[in-house]
Parts: sequence; C-alpha cells; structure tokens
Amino acid sequence: MTTSSIESNPLLEAWTGPFEAPPFERIEPRHFRPAFEAALKDARGEIDAVAASPAPPTFANTIEALERSGRKLEKVSRVFFNLAGAATNDELQAIERDIAPVLARHRNETFLNDSLFKRIDALKAEGDKLGLSAEQARVLARYHLDFTRAGAGLPPEAKARLAAISERLATLGAEFGQNVLADEKAWLMLLNEDDLDGLPDFFIASAARVAAERGHPGRYAVTLSRSSIEPFLQFSTRRDLRESAFRAWAARGENGGATDNRAIAAEMVRLRAERARLIGYETYAHYRLADTMAKTPRAALDLLESVWTPGVRRALKEQEALQEIVAGEGGNFKVAPWDWRYLAEKRRKAEFDFDEGELKPYLQLDRMIEAAFYAAGRLFGLEFAERFDLELYDPDVRAWAVLGRDGAPVALFIGDYFARPSKRSGAWMSVFRGQQKLDGPQSPIVVNVMNFAKGGEGEPSLLSFADARTLFHEFGHALHGMLSDVTYPIISGTHVAGDFVEFPSQLYEHWMSEPEMLRRFALHYKTGEPMPEALLSKLITARRFNQGWAAVEYTASALVDLRLHLDPSPGDVDVVAFERQELARIGMPDAIAMRHRSPHFQHIFSAGYSAAYYSYLWSEVLDADGFEAFEEAGDIFDAVVARRLHDFVYAAGGSRDYEAAYAAFRGRAPSPQALFRKRGL
Ligand SMILES: [Zn+2]
Repeated sequence: MTTSSIESNPLLEAWTGPFEAPPFERIEPRHFRPAFEAALKDARGEIDAVAASPAPPTFANTIEALERSGRKLEKVSRVFFNLAGAATNDELQAIERDIAPVLARHRNETFLNDSLFKRIDALKAEGDKLGLSAEQARVLARYHLDFTRAGAGLPPEAKARLAAISERLATLGAEFGQNVLADEKAWLMLLNEDDLDGLPDFFIASAARVAAERGHPGRYAVTLSRSSIEPFLQFSTRRDLRESAFRAWAARGENGGATDNRAIAAEMVRLRAERARLIGYETYAHYRLADTMAKTPRAALDLLESVWTPGVRRALKEQEALQEIVAGEGGNFKVAPWDWRYLAEKRRKAEFDFDEGELKPYLQLDRMIEAAFYAAGRLFGLEFAERFDLELYDPDVRAWAVLGRDGAPVALFIGDYFARPSKRSGAWMSVFRGQQKLDGPQSPIVVNVMNFAKGGEGEPSLLSFADARTLFHEFGHALHGMLSDVTYPIISGTHVAGDFVEFPSQLYEHWMSEPEMLRRFALHYKTGEPMPEALLSKLITARRFNQGWAAVEYTASALVDLRLHLDPSPGDVDVVAFERQELARIGMPDAIAMRHRSPHFQHIFSAGYSAAYYSYLWSEVLDADGFEAFEEAGDIFDAVVARRLHDFVYAAGGSRDYEAAYAAFRGRAPSPQALFRKRGL
C-alpha cells in the first residue's frame, strides 16, 4: 500500500537526467506543498545552525555556509515560480497565494535574526584583516547591506512590524498579478469577416486560430495579449473597434469586482512607505534607489526629466502630422490614444514607403532565434545544439545545449515562445538553476518566455519588428545568466542592481537591427529571399520614427512610478487620481496613454520594479553608449571589445562595482549623448 506521505516526490529527489534538469513529466501540482514544507524545514535548520554556531565567525563558517543553505528550497521555488508564470492553473494559483507569505516569513526570520546579523556585522568590522578576495569582499558587503536594509539591528517591535509588512506585500503582489491575468483572460473581441478591414494576413491567421481554440471556429478573436492588441490597434481601420479594444486594454485591473487592483496598489504603496520609514529612509524611493547604480531618486528624476521635455516636444510634432492625416481624409475627430498606432502606421507608410506588414514576412521566429544564437557565437564563441530528448513542461517549449569555445557545456537554454492562456503576459528571462562554483562548477539552466502569436495552419510564426527586438532583449538577459562566471550564488548572473540589469539585455537588441544581421537572417518565409535592400534602408532611416511617442508613453509611466513612491506618508492614496494629477502636472499629451497604468502596472506591483521602472532608461544610457564602442571599432563583432564586454559585464554578475565595471568595458564613464542621438531627441 502506498500513501502520499511515503510516496516519492520528484521535487525532493536528486535530478539525474540530462543537464540535471527538473523532471517535468513527473512533477504534478500536488507535489509542491509537501516539497515546500520539507525544503523550508531544511533551509531553516541550515540557517539556524549558522546562527547558533559557538565558533567565532569566519567568512567560511558564516557567509559561505549561508550561501550553501536552502539549496532544496531554491530548487523547488525555481520550478514552482517558473511554472506559475508560464504554465499556471487553478491549483498552482492557489498554492502561489498561500506560499508567497510563507516564503516572505522565512526570509524575515533569516534577515531579522539577531545572532546571524551579529556574526555578519563582526566580519564586516574586521574588514581588510579577513584577507578576502575582491569577489568575497563584494559578497560580504552584499550580505551586510541586505541585512541592514531588511531591518536587522532594529528594536523588536520595528522588526515584527517589518516582518508583517513583507508578508502582506508578498500576498498583495501575487494577487495583483493574478487579477491582471484574470482581466486579460476574461476579455475577447470576436470579429466577423466584414470587421477585418486593414488587418494583415498574419494577424487574421492567428486571430482565426485563437477564436477556434476558444470555441468560436470561423470567427476571429482579438485578445488583450500585447501580440494581439498592438497589431490590431496598428492596422484596423475600424475606429469604433479600436476604441473599445483600447479601452478594455487600458482598464485592466480597474474593472470593479474581485479583480480590481486599485485598493491593492494603494495598500502596497502605503506599506512600502512605512517600511522605508522604519528602516530610516525618507521615502520608499530613497530606500529603493540607495542600492542601485543611480543611488538617489534625484539622479533618476534628472535623467527622466531630461528626456521628458524633448520627448513631449517631439511627440506633439508627431501628433500634428497625425492630425493632418485625419484632416486629409476628411475626418472630423481629434487624435485619441486608440488612433495613434493606426495613424502612425499610415504616416510611416507615407513617409518611408513601407509598413510593418511588409516587414513581417521577413521576420520568422525560427530565423530570429538563429540570429540571436549567431551573434552570441560571433561575440562570445557560443554554439547551440537543440535537444529533442528532454521532456519539458509544454509540448511547444524547446531546449538547446549551449557549448563554449572549447566545446565544453556552458548551460542549458530553454525557449518558451508562444502565448497561451496559462501564461502571464509579457516576456521575461528566468532560471531553473543559476551559475555558481562554490563547490565545483554548476552550469545554469536558463529560460526565455515570450508571448508570440503562433503561425496559422502550416505557416511559420512571423514576428513584428518589436517582437524580434523583445526576443533579442530577453536573450541578452539569458546570456547574462549563461555566461556568468562567479563563485557565489548571491552575485551570480542577473543578480545585479535593477538599473544595471537591463544593460546586457538592451545592449543585445542592437545586434538584431544591424543591416549585416538582417541581410543574413531576415528571409522571406515563402521565397527565402533576403529583405530587399530598399526596404532595409527605409527601415534604418525609419528607426527614429515615432520616438517622441515612445519616449512619452514610457517616461510617463516611469515618472508616475517614482512620484508614487516619493510620498513619505501616502495615507489612503487613490492611485488612479494620483496618476491623473501627476500626468496633468507634467503636461501629458491627451493623445498618448501611459505604457502601463497603475491598476495593471505589473512591473511595479508584482515584479520587483517598484520605484525602479526608470531603470530601463538608465540602462539605455549604458546600452546606447556601450554599442558605440563596437561602432567606433568599426566592427559590430570586434573581438577585443567583445572580450571586454564578456569579462566585465556578461560574465561578471554582481562581482564588481557597476560604474567601475562599465568603465573597464568602455574605457570611460557612460555619457547620455549617445541615447539622445539614438532616439533623435
Ligand atoms: Zn529586461
């Protein structure tokens, strides 16, 4: 007889298959609760043993022992959260809501443990006398800072309050994300043949497939996934349909009822401010930015404001041009947010004589994956060999063995490219196992998750230019995880400051749009012909097109995020009213909407970018300036520059000071001029 208590749990066993990858085919939702329970117990025991050690603290018996603790919990959590994001279901969602506060409590018990902090503090005080390597010194400083910032050393009542706040925030963050997903799933716009005017073939094919999947064969479905709604808004000639789709998209998280996020967001802002005050910071934004490359909210605001003014000026000029198109067609309406993408597409076609639809047949998903791999080969000597012998968590998911220059395995790369209802929206990189070599080399298992539309029956999946850029962006993060070459897990791969982490990813986007790359990989899916030179050169001159709009939709979101977290005591804030006031204050053009409105702004309420959405722009200063290093060398694959980029950025994780690492790569500090040139501001 078997009972659940003695039955084997694949999550708790050693994984002995290829790459020691998780045995997805045997993992079921019911395995997670007992696995979390056992793993948490082990982790607790390991950490308590370090804290209770009678031996005087050393780097080995304290820091390295902590770095070794919680391995099992790490394994279980990685599998769980990757599935919860990319292949969720009701069971996993219920576990997610329950486990978030439990994990927050575990974290609090660790970071608010006095005897543990005393050991770390004593080591920190010894400083140079410990004879640590540069990497070890960074690791010790990291631990000390993490403990201080969590509230270690504060009086007991403050610590208890901080613990309660973190648990509550963890629960709220999980609910926030689930509510957005629920609102996205709940909305579907079904079209008939005569509603398709203007829509390109690729869109129609995938809309037909989605409609059939959702039980409406013969019709066409628009969904709120970015890869569906954005092309719809760009191409549909039906202003009425565009308006209702746009309104549904903009209202996610603000629809009343059980999935409304306004009260959740308000409570989160309030709790974050309280936490910052308890730890001794003026506001949550000050607390948050103290541990970044920017260091202060002022520095981040300065950068955002320096882009805002020229961005708005340019956007208003763009708007005038769009209004002229409306007038020219005898239209009698003012350009609204649901018109912008559509009219901009018309303008692009008129001014540059090409449309996105013309581009798309050349941007096949498989060729773009190949292109991302090719650039990694030229720059870093990596090779990718697809593996068909691994059982992954969905039949559409693919995997590649990644080999280095010497043919030795570097990593396992997993690509999960297609949208499905069980996946949250957006695109991201994550790991199932991070790189480290504390006890011998451990190679990483890295995953990229996208939400691309599948091709129609028998057709390849075709990407928009923005989709292709997203693929390169996330692959840049993946390289940061795969090329990592550090000893300690806490500073491995993408474990770097939030405003530095987008640098390797945004930098990688540059290779996607280089003519040399497009000539080789942008091949027509029917004829195999490369993109015509005329189209290519139009594409390149059109690069700065609509950049005022792009600067405004992004910067508005980043400014609202920072200002929302700059209030020392926000009280019962109405996030929607706050947003409205803030946009009025900074002079947001009526015809442009924020890229992410507060009720569905998952970056800042469920994904760790709170007070830090500015990071993308901060990193863009670095990526624009950094790519010019290759241009100055006269070769986008220049081996000397690529070597420095590898050593000081992609392989370095958090082992170096960010400013110093950047300067070592570039030979000087970053300058924002390249960003202004790139965006034509
Ligand atoms: Zn990113």
